[in-house]
Amino acid sequence: MLEYIGDIFHHFIDPKKRVFLGYIALSILIALLWLVFIRKKGLKSAIFKVFDKKILLSGSAISDYKMFLINRVLMLVLSPYLLTQLAVATFFYYSLLSIPLSGLISFLSDTPTFVVAVLFTFVFFTFDDFTKYWVHRWMHKWPVLWALHKVHHSAETLNPITVYRTHPLEGILFSLRGAFSQGTVISTFFFIFGDKVDLVTILGVNFLVFSFHVAGSNLRHSHIDIKYWVWLEKILISPAQHQLHHSLDERHYDKNFGAALAIWDWIFGSLHHSEDIDNLILGVEDNDFNPTSVTELYLKPLKEISDIVAESLSSFKLLNKIFKI
Ligand SMILES: [Zn+2]
Ligand SMILES: [Zn+2]
Repeated sequence: MLEYIGDIFHHFIDPKKRVFLGYIALSILIALLWLVFIRKKGLKSAIFKVFDKKILLSGSAISDYKMFLINRVLMLVLSPYLLTQLAVATFFYYSLLSIPLSGLISFLSDTPTFVVAVLFTFVFFTFDDFTKYWVHRWMHKWPVLWALHKVHHSAETLNPITVYRTHPLEGILFSLRGAFSQGTVISTFFFIFGDKVDLVTILGVNFLVFSFHVAGSNLRHSHIDIKYWVWLEKILISPAQHQLHHSLDERHYDKNFGAALAIWDWIFGSLHHSEDIDNLILGVEDNDFNPTSVTELYLKPLKEISDIVAESLSSFKLLNKIFKI
């Protein structure tokens, strides 16, 4: 129990976590500056807008908070059994050692330590973001994965904790993705540059991850529709662009899968720029569960997956029968 309470507390005081209180405070400041200077609201109405009870205490938001607390228990139990980036890195490193490449890359051994650190920090962040884009895109494309990801999209209001409104099976998939992407980059760099490999960090956090959070990453899950310039929205996902990703409007379906970078959406044709919409309606069309019932949020996706599997099996049996005939 103490370990659990410590883990929850840790999420808000650890700069490695997105909901670190320092990032939340900066996000509030950015939201107020946006509302006062760009939306021309008075300070008092801007404060009321940021702390809107209808958003932060909605039934949907309450289920976000409950899922955050329940998912942390599940992850504490499951995490010792999940594949780690160290295991992946060790496997890839020894696989690379077995390939006779040392002659080809020996000229890189003179690379200055600072250059290696900057390159490693950049590649680590970019490749991680690239894999997030693809796994997220597959989550929307494949029915079995959509059954899980629909839980996140069933949110009818957004707040920074909505990022944790995910089915635990999606959490496990994302953890495997992280182990794969980070483990492969770490092992490749250690193979090429040896002990020169290091991250450029601030408060122990990857410099680029830190910059992303300081720039208001928490506002992606919020009702503050901050937009960027058109050119910048092709490079970085603005809060308004992620809010469009949650929109019920068909025009916004399968757009803006990016986590931090928008370049993947731009390159692979899923980019949608932010729009001036006052009341964006959020949620999912085929929402066959109550978005405020935590029990349904956990159990209905499992039922839907078992139905999809059963249906595939019966089609397979039918084909088998026809084939035999
Ligand atoms: Zn999505
Ligand atoms: Zn989201």
